[in-house]
Amino acid sequence: TDAVHIVGGGLAGSEAAWQAAEAGASVVLHEMRPDRGTEAHKTDGLAELVCSNSFRSDDAQTNAVGLLHQEMRRLGSLIMREADRNQVPAGGALAVDRDGFSEAVTAALAAHPRITIERGEVAGLPPAEWGSTIVASGPLTSSALAEAIREVTGEGELAFFDAIAPIIHRDSIDLGKAWFQSRYDKAGPGGTGADYLNCPLDRAQYEAFVAALVEGEKTSFKEWEASTPYFDGCLPIEVMAERGAETLRWGPMKPVGLTNPHDPEVKAYAIVQLRQDNALGTLFNMVGFQTKLKHGEQVRIFRTIPGLEQAEFARLGGLHRNTYLNSPKLLDGELRLKALPRLRFAGQITGCEGYVESAAVGLMAGRFAAAERLGTPFALPPATTAFGALVRHITGGHLAAEEEGGGPRSFQPMNVNFGLFPPLASAPKGEGGKRLRGSEKALARKRALTDRARADFSAWLDEPAARDAAE
Ligand code: FAD
Repeated sequence: TDAVHIVGGGLAGSEAAWQAAEAGASVVLHEMRPDRGTEAHKTDGLAELVCSNSFRSDDAQTNAVGLLHQEMRRLGSLIMREADRNQVPAGGALAVDRDGFSEAVTAALAAHPRITIERGEVAGLPPAEWGSTIVASGPLTSSALAEAIREVTGEGELAFFDAIAPIIHRDSIDLGKAWFQSRYDKAGPGGTGADYLNCPLDRAQYEAFVAALVEGEKTSFKEWEASTPYFDGCLPIEVMAERGAETLRWGPMKPVGLTNPHDPEVKAYAIVQLRQDNALGTLFNMVGFQTKLKHGEQVRIFRTIPGLEQAEFARLGGLHRNTYLNSPKLLDGELRLKALPRLRFAGQITGCEGYVESAAVGLMAGRFAAAERLGTPFALPPATTAFGALVRHITGGHLAAEEEGGGPRSFQPMNVNFGLFPPLASAPKGEGGKRLRGSEKALARKRALTDRARADFSAWLDEPAARDAAE
């Protein structure tokens, strides 16, 4: 057939189907429910929200996900249209009536003349006869499909489990206490010998920290998650802390091979290391700090670490079942699997995180697939927009130019956030050129980033390729 096939009618697959159909392509959308369920879905509706009913902040001036909402609306997003129509009061957040929302998305897709919905599991690699296919099967992808994908990507490139260490905005780390240095000044491939940020603890601070971890409130492990195998390399830090007071000092908090330039005479009792997390160098992850502590507890306890008193977290730690690709290595700039380009990926399986982000990546995948099918041009929005920043983070598209300078990097699922945007050319100034400080400065920076994004998004929309596809 000439249709674009889409596997999975969740947040990403539903948006991708709508976008491809609106752009003029025929679409077959495959959804396994109700034939086969997942551990979290409860209905057979498309775009079911499995947990919270919130699309988070709708503030497009100072919040990255609010900005993404706005860009999605400008591209005729079905998910955003129905979220807006099914909104329930939630302050500055966009929250929805989950049943009304899912029913409306299902009805809109079912009524579209170019969309066919087929119920049933795609229990292996999508057949070659389907041609270009979007895989949007989500964090709980059925095992038959996941295994088939893993055979193509290779062992180790498709994760089934997400052990996340907290990620911190670099500009919120106190460099009066923390310092850049790699253990024994080792420079790995592409490294400089000063790739890590280090935070020193003295004995009293370390002991208080370990006690706080042991006492801190944890989230419970869902039964179906407990059956997923634990990897030894990703034990939660609080589990390590429970094994003995010294365990962390011999593990991720080892104080060896490092000298504190702020206090060279004093040897730290323990050290927390942070590793660069994105090519832009704006985000750093806490090495070995995957945790099941409640989010509020993480903020409270981690801010007791010297240098992290004012830390702003781009994401907090966690541990849960999540199927996702090592996308920066595996996918090309148009979300196609390099090893098998007839497969394009969208949604949480690409390593984005969240309902809105999943739908947004679905939107782009739908546009790319339709453009390919119809032979029309379509280009990704610029890196300074929310769409551009999010998709480039996933595909590693921003790496090429910066590879030489970029330090070691891990790929972990993440919500859209300002750390993914290229930094501003100059710091925003207050009225009359006044220098801004603290929260005023942070707010002005967010405003400047979203203003730049809006201007660049508008310019992109005015380009013929984007405009033709939007019409
Ligand atoms: P999904 O929405 O899960 O859609 C995938 C679809 O593919 C499903 O309908 C599934 O039935 C179908 N499918 C799977 N395998 C096959 C197959 N082989 N053949 C055919 N169909 C198949 N994000 C938030 O923003 N807020 C939250 O509160 C939140 N809570 C979450 C709670 C849990 C338990 C999980 C697992 C995730 C949560 N997420 C949350 C993360 C994520 O945003 C959502 O999972 C989101 O739904 C992902 O969108 P998606 O389209 O990629 O996947």
